[in-house]
Amino acid sequence: MLMLLLILIFILILILGYTVLPYLLTSLFGYGVFRKGSQSSYIALTFDDGPDRHYTPQLLDLLKKHQVKATFFVVGKKAANHPDLIWRMHQEGHLIGLHNYVHRSNWTMSPWRIKRDLDRSADIVEKITGCRPIYYRPPWGLLAVFDFFLLKRYNIILWSLMTGDWRSKGGSAKIKNGILNHVKNGDVILLHDSGETWGANLDAPSYTIEALKDVLAELPKRGFSYQRIDEMMNGTTEHMLHKKRG
Ligand SMILES: [Zn+2]
Repeated sequence: MLMLLLILIFILILILGYTVLPYLLTSLFGYGVFRKGSQSSYIALTFDDGPDRHYTPQLLDLLKKHQVKATFFVVGKKAANHPDLIWRMHQEGHLIGLHNYVHRSNWTMSPWRIKRDLDRSADIVEKITGCRPIYYRPPWGLLAVFDFFLLKRYNIILWSLMTGDWRSKGGSAKIKNGILNHVKNGDVILLHDSGETWGANLDAPSYTIEALKDVLAELPKRGFSYQRIDEMMNGTTEHMLHKKRG
């Protein structure tokens, strides 16, 4: 009986070590990840979960209109399905990072599966744009403990400001106020250009885009400018910048 209990405790420690430990290290202490730029007036807009056939083109139109360069963390499988949208992001000066091959938490995958899927996604983007992505945001920001070793060739990017824009509840006002009332120098803002993810609402990106119409008009008036994540990381010391290998 005691033996069984000890085995159960051991398994529990292993599971917590794989999941909760990296969560505490990254989300509370920022270990090994980039979450925020320096105190300059630059901010970074980042968009997860796309590309999306319906919403991504609308978003790209809006960014172009305001001459904003953003960062897209794309899902590998969707990138393969919509190469024209990946090409357009690249052509219009946006940075493309990765967000797994399918939108699944690293907590539910083996280290080998995570690495294989990520490399596969990088291959897909590289084939379309000619540039190999070196920036990575894990779905829901959740890292597994071995990711720190396996992902040495990727810079792991989290965020410093989010508004819950994956849910339609609250509409565009929630997103607009969430950004305009809280934005600070160096913020990395988490947004979404697809609502197909588990836990999200399909039409949620329509509110994100609606909110951005006002937000993009307002932020420059307050003195903010935009940077892609690679530009922002090069202008700060709060990061671990890994050299691309091989
Ligand atoms: Zn996501």
